[in-house]
Amino acid sequence: MQYPITGHQLLGFSESSLGKNTFETFNPQTGAPTPWKFCEATDSEVHMAMELATRAFTTYRDMPGIRRAEFLRAIAAELEQQQEDLVSVYMQESGLPEGRARGELGRTTGQLRAFAAVAESASWMDVRIDTAQPDRTPLPKPDIRKCMRPLGPVVVFGASNFPFAFSTAGGDTASALAVGCPVVVKGHPMHAGTSEAVGRCIQLAARKTAMPEGVFSQLQGSGTVLGGALVRHPATKAVGFTGSKAGGLALARLGAERGEPIPVFAEMGSINPVVVLPSATDPTQGWAKAYAQSVTLGAGQFCTNPGLVLGIKGPGWNTFSAALAAEVDAVGSACMLHPKIAAQYQVLRSDFFAQPGVTQMTSISSDGDDTQAIGAVALVSAAAFRKNAGLKREVFGPFTLLVTCEDQEDLVRTLNTVEGQLTASLLGNEAELESAATLISLLGDKAGRLLVNGVPTGVEVCPSMHHGGPFPATTDARFTSVGTDAVKRWIRPLSYQNLPAGVLPPALKNDNPLGILRMVNGQMTTDPI
Ligand code: NAP
Repeated sequence: MQYPITGHQLLGFSESSLGKNTFETFNPQTGAPTPWKFCEATDSEVHMAMELATRAFTTYRDMPGIRRAEFLRAIAAELEQQQEDLVSVYMQESGLPEGRARGELGRTTGQLRAFAAVAESASWMDVRIDTAQPDRTPLPKPDIRKCMRPLGPVVVFGASNFPFAFSTAGGDTASALAVGCPVVVKGHPMHAGTSEAVGRCIQLAARKTAMPEGVFSQLQGSGTVLGGALVRHPATKAVGFTGSKAGGLALARLGAERGEPIPVFAEMGSINPVVVLPSATDPTQGWAKAYAQSVTLGAGQFCTNPGLVLGIKGPGWNTFSAALAAEVDAVGSACMLHPKIAAQYQVLRSDFFAQPGVTQMTSISSDGDDTQAIGAVALVSAAAFRKNAGLKREVFGPFTLLVTCEDQEDLVRTLNTVEGQLTASLLGNEAELESAATLISLLGDKAGRLLVNGVPTGVEVCPSMHHGGPFPATTDARFTSVGTDAVKRWIRPLSYQNLPAGVLPPALKNDNPLGILRMVNGQMTTDPI
């Protein structure tokens, strides 16, 4: 390995190991500990990281976007250069296969470059200029110019289920760095070695592109104390989180209870309902197989995993349900990320099967050893589902619950009892979809992404993507954590009234030196004023 994993905190351009306590990571495939020990970060290291970030902010926020783009591209290049080592550590700590590791790394570098383009274009600044009208009566109109600016240091919690794409150099980090916010990452303790290896690439890229020290730091810890200290620190101005509902809500509460409350953008659980209209139950359409693959993909450890499938009773639905269960059975067991996650999955799955009216459709034999998990499908009537809140919980793993509705009205009544979701899917032919306006509106109320004739797993990274949704899918349905709009979580507007031309930021100057599209006196234009 070119940069050894030391188990130390990465503080600006240096490292630190003040903590006396250590923790380890494990190879989920073998159960064996990895060769590294990681120091638990201390309060004084939290303080140092946040102080460095605060100092870096004063330089980094005003740096030309083109310089921040250089930094993001340098991170991507560094990750690519270290690819072999990174993939090896990732596989040792996650139990995920090589193809997934390489694919996820490609997605991560792609995201970094997409956010580099955002930084460069300055489109995120959303400039509006209303020039003065000194002769207006009865009162003259002042010159007012508005644009977005970064919030300040952002704390990012790495997610367990995406050690590259939603962790140290993932979308939260890339989007915050793009718009001028320094980032302090709390690495996920299940893949601390991967976090360190990636963090070292960011540290190196920051040095190579002459970024201010403190633009990036990373702290590691295996309990809730470190995360709490980071959210409570007065220098923290916003938080990005992906994980459990319990974790996200606890951190959101901490953020709201501070002397100065801050936004905690938490992406939490989702069961991603799927509505199967009668034509889609036809076996020739292949939806049972496609959904079995989607449910079991990555051992079901995706926030977009389809955990709830609703259909209307009849022979078609019966055939579809049996086929989906058979296809899931055929997949066999898969390695989960951690024995704790596998154990939680097994407990929750058994709990679902024990609920009144629930039928087990798959033939669970044995999961295999500690971290192995076998897929499962359960079936329940809409009436039983509606009155049982326990059946609306996320089962993180290869599981889905089928719900049999009496008719379309029963389907709508049932969907009305479902909480906010990241995605909602609809399968059917054109005629069915054209007469499903009520259903489409209802699903639109429930979810952040509505898709037709597809599977929800697989989230495209592009400007039109929304990966968020009404509570409890996230703490704020207005924002996304995937796609270029993810930057909107880390910025705020500032209006400048009657500022002399010389002190206006470049984006607001008359000659438009950045050449960006601006709204000037109500018209979108790139022209100078
Ligand atoms: P998690 O338990 O929510 O933890 C995520 C991160 O937040 C960890 O770094 C954790 O720190 C920290 N954290 C959690 N609660 C905290 C608190 N009260 N105060 C301070 N920090 C806190 O999620 P996980 O470890 O990734 O997985 C556990 C379960 O979360 C899974 O079994 C699954 O149910 C769910 N999950 C859901 C999604 C999704 O996208 N829907 C994704 C991943 C996980 P420590 O671990 O150091 O305590």
